[in-house]
Amino acid sequence: MTQPAAHAKSTKIVATLGPASSPEDVLRTLIHEGLNVARINFSHGSHDVHGVTINTVRRLDDELGTYTSVLADLQGPKLRVGDIEGGEMPLVEGETLVVRVGKGVGRDGVVYTDYEAFAADVQPGERVLMDDGKLALRVTGTNGKDEVKCEVVHGGPLRPRKGLNLPETKVSLPCITPKDQADLEFALSKDVDWIGLSFVRQASDIQELRDQINASGKHARIVAKIEKPEAIEDFDAILEATDAVMVARGDLGVEMPMQEVPLLQKDIVRKCMAKGKPVIVATQMLESMIESATPTRAEVNDVANAVLDGADAVMLSGETSVGKYPVHAVRAMRHVIENIESKGSVDRFERPPLHPDDERFISDSICYNACRLARRVNAAAIVTMTFSGYTAVQVSSQRPSATIYMFTANPKVLSQMSLVWGVYAIPYTKMVSTDHTIADIKALLLKECKVKDGDFVIHLASMPISDAGMTNMVKLSRV
Ligand code: PGA
Ligand code: MN
Repeated sequence: MTQPAAHAKSTKIVATLGPASSPEDVLRTLIHEGLNVARINFSHGSHDVHGVTINTVRRLDDELGTYTSVLADLQGPKLRVGDIEGGEMPLVEGETLVVRVGKGVGRDGVVYTDYEAFAADVQPGERVLMDDGKLALRVTGTNGKDEVKCEVVHGGPLRPRKGLNLPETKVSLPCITPKDQADLEFALSKDVDWIGLSFVRQASDIQELRDQINASGKHARIVAKIEKPEAIEDFDAILEATDAVMVARGDLGVEMPMQEVPLLQKDIVRKCMAKGKPVIVATQMLESMIESATPTRAEVNDVANAVLDGADAVMLSGETSVGKYPVHAVRAMRHVIENIESKGSVDRFERPPLHPDDERFISDSICYNACRLARRVNAAAIVTMTFSGYTAVQVSSQRPSATIYMFTANPKVLSQMSLVWGVYAIPYTKMVSTDHTIADIKALLLKECKVKDGDFVIHLASMPISDAGMTNMVKLSRV
């Protein structure tokens, strides 16, 4: 079997699936081109269609021997305007637009939103943004019940169902809306690997989702989408609560001044690496490829810089879901990643000191020192044996140059780890003794040409293996 390109690079590719990419033959090509994570965007499409797409991913994995991660992205409290008569309404600077709560069709300076508490939540003076911030308004009055008057600050054509952002308003909607609830149940029933939660505002939003996942008995982990000023404020607590993070630059750049996003991206990525939590950089990475077979030079720079920042994964949205060139987009992304990874290097920084009272102190210390050792001896591989994936993520977060091989007896983490930087997952169930397993795995890596004679290999394990306890030993050996 030829190894799909998915395995050749360290930075992973998330591609949003949609009409342009969900047919089986396209998806097969995308996996060959380097797709690692299939993102299902619940803002669009029906459960039936998403179910078929997820089944196709799993079937192709069986065929290709890959472990593609499935990320179910919940819409969250995304606000929208309703339908508009004639398909467009011109908003003119200085004029008044009335926003009513309800399901009506907008016309003659009135638009609707189904956000029930809109009039109660907004205050005069607050900004109202529409269509990704292309249109800007300011609240001049509210009746507190069902009608808000706004003055158009920056006009243009308003089209139906466009997004509505309220960066200065305390939106009272729950983080998991009734729609999300139904989508979550469906996603969990399909055994997805990751659940993305949009418009996270505080750590308790994550906890709420976690309680529901736990109650379902499923293995899915959480990606907190950072796209609200509140989430930036409360980021440390959110990071503590979540399993992974997405720098959701689309909405973040509307909710915050967009010139702040580049440094926020760097700051978030660095904090995630320091905490050992995977981080995705998302939105408009190769935006022009929705229409064009080649990216702009600025887009190539953007992908390259996300790789250099140390992101675990870079994401494609419209480029692969509805774009004209989904295969070209994934290929272009992979070419950038491969080139940058072979020549550039992620900024390395010392990890914050570990605390002896931390329950992970021993395993974290082993992971940390394994990476230092790997660097010192220029090891070809770091092998972790893990059931939860924890040690693989810890090792990965230090961005070692050695390839990380994660052997696991837990089939559920195999595809989950496809989101994580540099981790190559391999199923392994023969846990006889630590000595035996280490020798066996080394022989296996040699047979598969992952290492060659003379290479240094570092093994992380827990001893005795029968306890299946925390990682507590590191072994350096030569093939
Ligand atoms: P979305 O999230 O594509 O679901 O809006 C990503 C973003 O806002 O960047
Ligand atoms: Mn968003």
